[in-house]
Formats: sequence, C-alpha cells, structure tokens
Amino acid sequence: MPSSVTLSECGIIVYNRGKKILLDPKRLVPSDYIFVSHAHIDHLHRKTAGCMVGKILASKATSLIANARGYAINNVYEECDGFKLIDTGHILGSKGLLMDLDLYYTGDISIRERAFMKPGALPKVHTLIIESTFGNPKYIFPSIDDVIHKTNKIISEMYDKGIPVILMGYPLGKAQLLTDFFGHWDPVYIHDAIHKMNFVYKELGIPLKSAVKFSTAERQGLLAKKPWVMISPLTHGRSNFIKNMKEKYDAITIGFSGWAMDTRHKFMMGLDHMMPFSDHCDYRELVDVVKKCNPKKIITFHGFSVDFAKVLRRMGFDAESINNISLRDKRKPLSDNTLDKYISNIG
Ligand SMILES: [Zn+2]
Ligand SMILES: [Zn+2]
Repeated sequence: MPSSVTLSECGIIVYNRGKKILLDPKRLVPSDYIFVSHAHIDHLHRKTAGCMVGKILASKATSLIANARGYAINNVYEECDGFKLIDTGHILGSKGLLMDLDLYYTGDISIRERAFMKPGALPKVHTLIIESTFGNPKYIFPSIDDVIHKTNKIISEMYDKGIPVILMGYPLGKAQLLTDFFGHWDPVYIHDAIHKMNFVYKELGIPLKSAVKFSTAERQGLLAKKPWVMISPLTHGRSNFIKNMKEKYDAITIGFSGWAMDTRHKFMMGLDHMMPFSDHCDYRELVDVVKKCNPKKIITFHGFSVDFAKVLRRMGFDAESINNISLRDKRKPLSDNTLDKYISNIG
C-alpha cells in the first residue's frame, strides 16, 4: 500500500517506500521516477534544466513515438525496482504502471480489441488509480463493427455520387486505426500529420497501407479527380482546412470520437457526421476494469472522475476522485474557442 497519492501542478504523484514517482507529468519536479504511459501530448513532458529526476519508466515504442513528435523521452526502463509496465490497449506502446504488484495506474486504457490493438491487461491489485474520461453512464459506445459498417455505408453512397469523404480522428492512435479500417477504399489520401505517425507505426511493425500524402495529392492535382477518401486530424467543421476542402471539392466530413455520444458536442463540432469511436474505455468497460482488478481502494482521475467515483461507491467500492483529495479544479465544460486546443492536446 503506497503511503500517499496526490495531485499537484505537475500531475499525479505517488509516494511509495520513500520514493517519489511522477505519473505522466506535464512539468518536472525533483523526483525518483517518472512514468510516461504513452505518447499523446497530454502525457509527455519536456526536460527541465537543472531538475534532478530519476529513471524514466516507459515502453520503447512510447520512447520512439515521442521522439518522432519532438519529445526527448530516452533511456527508458520497461521493468525495474519493483515496477512493471502492463499493456493498456490505448495506442501503440501504451502502458499502465504496476508498483510492487500492489498499486496499478492505468494511464489511458481500452479493453476493446480494435484491429491491431489488443485489449489492455488487468492485474489484481490493492489500489487502482484509474482514468475516468468516459466514467458516466451516458457514454456507452456501439460496437466497432457497427461504426465500421455505418461509415462504409456513407462512403459507398457518397462514392456513387462522386463526393469525397474526409475521415477525421486524433493523428496518433485513432488515425492509424482509421487507416486500417478504411484503407481498402481507393484512392485513400493521408493528411501529412498522420502520414508521419503512420510511418512510425509501420516502423514498429504495424502493416498499414501505404498511401499518398495529402500535400503530394494536392500538388499533383489528384484531389480534383473525385471521389476519394482522406484520413485527416479531427478539427471542427469551421476550420480553414475543412472550409477549403468543402469549397474546392465538396467533400463531406465524418469525425470519430467518444464524445460523439453527446449531442451538444456533435453540434459544436459542426461536422457532417460523428461516429462514437474511442481509444478509451466506455462507461461499461471502466466498470469492467474495476471488477477485474478487484481493488480495495480506487482513485479516479480525468473526465468524469467525481461521477465515476460516486457510481463505484454505490457498487460498494471504496472510491474517490483525485480531485477530492487535492485542490485542483473540477472539469469545466468546453467553450468553443478552447475546442481546437482540446482536440489537438487530449488523446
Ligand atoms: Zn490522455
Ligand atoms: Zn491518450
């Protein structure tokens, strides 16, 4: 049992056996260990000059992907001093941190098989620190097959009319799954930001289809030959890029996000279609994770952490939101102008 878990300016800190462990810190403070669960920007940090930090715990894949994104997460340990990294099935290389076979921090987690992504593993522990992004019963996602089927149906109808379709998701993780699911359409173009990440995934052994980069296709006039499918980062429908694609090519947009379960979010995004598809657990899956880990003590963090802790307490678990054991503000609703930042920063 760790001596304490707390939320600070630089993220969650665990004190265990006299050691200080930073979990997915955004900023560094002196510590003995830093754990980086995966290479989404909201989980990466930059080096702070003169700050004494100890070993970095992360997977080799996370280190490689982080490097490709311009973050120097190097000399990583995958197992040492009683720490063990466990697959979380969120994106390639994503891991949770198991400490002394006693405490498990999930980072971001998915237990749903999605193409080359396998479900996260679930260790039995005393204390579980679990992400709760979608920890509200409103967020129960349809099956992946359902989402793929509906999307193929839209693309097929649009192809009949010669209309291009832009499929939009986070450039890292989601976009590679979209490339796998919808790469059979011809031609498929890949936005430059995603092309780079697809390349890293291929380097790491994921057999993604090679496709022409958006900038190359545009330069060579290929986009004028309609229809086509493009995989692009998720932005709202009023972004310059989408406005441009609509004016020039009459393209329609399909966004992929767990938040698509929320009609207000759907409206705010202003895309033609939104599909509920996430690299996080939905509500039911989060409950499943808790039951399988069967902890004595649960700390929820991120998203609906207060709601989810309440639900778990009703189920008889000893659960608490990290927000209630620290001073940090609760989640604020998104305003329209923070949406872009939100989309590019949170995975
Ligand atoms: Zn995250
Ligand atoms: Zn993430």
